[in-house]
Amino acid sequence: MSPIQAIRGMNDILPEHADLWTFFEDTVEDWLRSYGYRGIRMPIVEQTALFKRAIGEVTDIVEKEMYTFVDALNGDSLTLRPEGTASCVRAVIQHNLLYNAPQRLYYTGPMFRHERPQKGRYRQFHQVGVESLGYAGPDMDAEHIIMTARLWKRLGLNDIALQINTLGSSADRIRHRSRLVHYLGQHVDMLDEDSRRRLQTNPLRVLDSKNPSLQELIEAAPKLLDDLDEASLKHFEDLQVMLRAAGIEYQINPRLVRGLDYYNFTVFEWVTTQLGAQGTVCAGGRYDGLIEQIGGKPAPACGFAMGVERLLALLEENAFQAPRVATDVYLVHQGDAANKFAMAAAEQLRDQGLHVLLHCGGGSFKSQMKKADSSGARYALIIGDDEAGAGEVTLKPLRELGEQMRMTVNAAASLINAG
Ligand code: ATP
Ligand code: MG
Repeated sequence: MSPIQAIRGMNDILPEHADLWTFFEDTVEDWLRSYGYRGIRMPIVEQTALFKRAIGEVTDIVEKEMYTFVDALNGDSLTLRPEGTASCVRAVIQHNLLYNAPQRLYYTGPMFRHERPQKGRYRQFHQVGVESLGYAGPDMDAEHIIMTARLWKRLGLNDIALQINTLGSSADRIRHRSRLVHYLGQHVDMLDEDSRRRLQTNPLRVLDSKNPSLQELIEAAPKLLDDLDEASLKHFEDLQVMLRAAGIEYQINPRLVRGLDYYNFTVFEWVTTQLGAQGTVCAGGRYDGLIEQIGGKPAPACGFAMGVERLLALLEENAFQAPRVATDVYLVHQGDAANKFAMAAAEQLRDQGLHVLLHCGGGSFKSQMKKADSSGARYALIIGDDEAGAGEVTLKPLRELGEQMRMTVNAAASLINAG
């Protein structure tokens, strides 16, 4: 029988990479707490209608990337979450979390999109998502950008550039839409099939097309920036003042529209040139209309998501070494009494906070010592029936020269902890 393989585009994270993942997750959690964000965990499966309503029917995600299936038991249409914002907002509304205070929230976990797998683009990938709900001002947009800049610094990543744009208010966009439709309408013959359809349903999405042959047309299209009213311009200008005060460099990219319909005002992306075509490692913006759109009391909000795989690839690209959790002790034992005593001794050492590898599977002292040497542990502790009879262990340093010494388990623990 041929062995069963994982699904294409869905990766196993093997032990050789697990240290890097753990390091990243720990760093991110500490960083988020330093800004006062609190965790929230949502289910991985939601009603399909949630994503259609939140992300927009005429978007790449909803039109062609969702894992949607019918629940065979009750006929409901369900979807594996393609992103976290919709679920997070759904949870906030359902549990009335905005009842008397705004919320700073974060989550991490797998997301699912049926895309063509390639470097940096997978069908199951991971995001760290951050959402601030109930905040209207550009100070929160600025906080999100400033905090991500701090994370890059902490991870030693300097080749990530910031692009910002504003999508204005819905009134701005209605104004812009008619200008854009007029412009695109004059060039219908140049549009691909997708864009022609979108010209009717969601013209702003044409600007989001990745088709290379459309880029020139998109480049010359009317700019939303020129259709903004005073209040929208002020939000954008205020944000930039705060970014400059914080010493954050940025580029205004008037073509940055983001692939989801829920954004308004500020949008931003952090992009690196080190990962080829999949260079966006973090993206987000303001989505003031979304809470009301999925049934909550109107409240402003903004957020962003990082692509974990892309950031880890960037760390590896920069030869980053994750700190390895070292094993302190490899416990070698042979003989009936010794084997029994070794298991209790290992627990006793762990009581003292040590990381202990207890040899399992028997074998000669010599073969066990070989395993101890190659394990990377700092010490071998050796228990024969002799030691077991006396309630003691023989300690042997593995990484430096040193005498073997006999002592009680607690004495060994103190010595190792002190070293
Ligand atoms: P892209 O333009 O690369 O398709 P997107 O605009 O669809 O990205 P978002 O929905 O904004 O992406 O998701 C936020 C981040 O999640 C992205 O910037 C990226 O780092 C990461 N991401 C998105 N889709 C994938 C994927 N299929 N595989 C790996 N990472 C992804
Ligand atoms: Mg995408």
